[in-house]
Amino acid sequence: MHCAPFIELSRSDLRDKYGLRGALAGVLQPTVALIQPAKLARGMRRVALDCGVRVFENSKVTQVCRGPECRVRTQDGTLTAASVVVALNAWATIFPEIRRGLAVTAAEACVTARVPEILAKLGWSQGPGITDSRRMILNWRATPDGRVEMGKGGGRLAFGSRVAGRFDGGAIRVRQIVEEVALAVPDLKGIDIATSWMGPIDKSFHGLPAASRFPNDENMFYGCGFSGNGVGPSKLIAKILASLVLRRADEYSSLGLAQPLQGTFPREPVRYLGGRCVLAAMNRHDQLDHANQSAGVLTRWLVSKMPGSILPGTVGDDGNAALQEHIPE
Ligand SMILES: Cc1cc2nc3c(=O)[nH]c(=O)nc-3n(C[C@H](O)[C@H](O)[C@H](O)COP(=O)(O)OP(=O)(O)OC[C@H]3O[C@@H](n4cnc5c(N)ncnc54)[C@H](O)[C@@H]3O)c2cc1C
Repeated sequence: MHCAPFIELSRSDLRDKYGLRGALAGVLQPTVALIQPAKLARGMRRVALDCGVRVFENSKVTQVCRGPECRVRTQDGTLTAASVVVALNAWATIFPEIRRGLAVTAAEACVTARVPEILAKLGWSQGPGITDSRRMILNWRATPDGRVEMGKGGGRLAFGSRVAGRFDGGAIRVRQIVEEVALAVPDLKGIDIATSWMGPIDKSFHGLPAASRFPNDENMFYGCGFSGNGVGPSKLIAKILASLVLRRADEYSSLGLAQPLQGTFPREPVRYLGGRCVLAAMNRHDQLDHANQSAGVLTRWLVSKMPGSILPGTVGDDGNAALQEHIPE
């Protein structure tokens, strides 16, 4: 039997159970899990090693020589392989075939000092993970060691979708993130921040990931375009990639996501300049929404230029059986 995917929460539930005194409405998704990403990466490494996979950490790939047999060069050695899978997130824009289909922006996050007394007051000892309905989505959660971790997408944009070193280091919008979370949870107003970070996001035109073969290479494949939501979907994309690499015609290789990146972003400098205007407009629209004010014509027009999320017709119906497997009972 399937659980109800969404449970409507009353304003008193939001206030009394979750400390969300500034929230107008909310839904609970009881089947959602919170994941500690470092533990996930270490767990996947352990499972891969148990399966006999050899893992080469700290081995930067410097060149991929394409052909009937691929050669992957690193600083310390070269690997030959029958097939290569490019699963590099925003760094995949180094490949010209992928670059036009992805825009690279930053997701930023910060974590507070330890505040167990505030968490106890809010009743957050068992979660939950919370996200709001802004266009520039905001999320936050309690950590097991008594802190609050908060994050937001739609940060810095990369010219030419080049990652280089522009996404290393601390978050730029820490104050904004804390202020926005405090609108919903006033107890977190002005809270001390212990550290912050950011990373690049591979925003695809439709906001959906894609898994495909490179257009002119029989044995080169890619999976990317998670648009900042890749932790769960990367498992499904990995299954699709496995089927594509092994040339299996099965429920995964026939899924709607098993297709090339759809849509292209404009060429530079329009992509960068236009993207900055659209991001600024989305931010302004969110702020006006929160102040219960309407955005002007120009802001609304710019917001309408943001490539959408899931558009009708972008995901086929054929793969429903495989998708069902990922809906928890
Ligand atoms: C601050 C932040 C918060 C996020 N929060 C969430 C969230 O709450 N939920 C969610 O679902 N997603 C979130 N994401 C997005 C999520 O991290 C990604 O969608 C997901 O990690 C994508 O998985 P991936 O395997 O495609 O890429 P990654 O996990 O990014 O792995 C790509 C790897 O390729 C490596 N690499 C790059 N170039 C080279 C090279 N030349 N040689 C060798 N290796 C290379 C990189 O070092 C990296 O380890 C967040 C991202 C950030 C930055």
